[in-house]
Amino acid sequence: MTVISVLGPPGAGKGTQCRPLATRRGLTYLSTGDALRRAIHDGTPLGVHAARYMAAGDLVPDRLVREVIRSALLGLPAEDGLLLDGYPRTLEQAESLEVDLDQAGRRLDAAVLVDAPDHLLVARLSGRRVCTVAGHTYHVSASPPRQAGVCDDDGSPLVQRDDDAPAVVMRRLQTYRTRTRPVTAFYEARNVLHTIDGSPEPSVVETALAALLDRLDGVHA
Ligand code: AMP
Repeated sequence: MTVISVLGPPGAGKGTQCRPLATRRGLTYLSTGDALRRAIHDGTPLGVHAARYMAAGDLVPDRLVREVIRSALLGLPAEDGLLLDGYPRTLEQAESLEVDLDQAGRRLDAAVLVDAPDHLLVARLSGRRVCTVAGHTYHVSASPPRQAGVCDDDGSPLVQRDDDAPAVVMRRLQTYRTRTRPVTAFYEARNVLHTIDGSPEPSVVETALAALLDRLDGVHA
């Protein structure tokens, strides 16, 4: 079944786009960022270990994130497709993913880079607010809630993610450039890289992504 990884700098819209896309396409959605935040919230050993890297805007060590992926792959029914959001983020992760997918009888069909210029990323991340109950996402100017600081869906308070603070955002962008960007060359060399412009408003990006997935479905049918 289809396995797709969505890559891109923080703020490019990976989460916004991928979650509904996975639902529409019947793919299992797996965000390593979400899994790590859940682990922190639940106070698991993984969460305790990961928290200080995430708070600093650094990547969590490869072996920890790999375990998240391996256990997800183990629990995934063979007939289910998979949409990975934010994994792999290093060359080492890209290499180990090939091994882990192979062991699960799968392979990566496509890596989709959703890209956008830095000034846009900074504006999006610094204005992002998330609800404290379910992670519903807003933007103070681009998609504000009906009542400032309150989630439309569940009425919980909206907060800024710690790692969306300005100094941490700069660090995350730098980490992306040095450690994650090389992953795109890795997939380009394997002829599975596709690039989508993440600059326009979400509905335009959504249409471009849907068209790409349609093309991929045609190729893999
Ligand atoms: P995200 O929600 O995808 O922006 O991820 C938030 C944070 O989780 C990142 O800044 C990293 O600290 C950590 N993280 C998420 N995915 C990975 C990964 N594949 N490798 C290492 N760290 C990760």
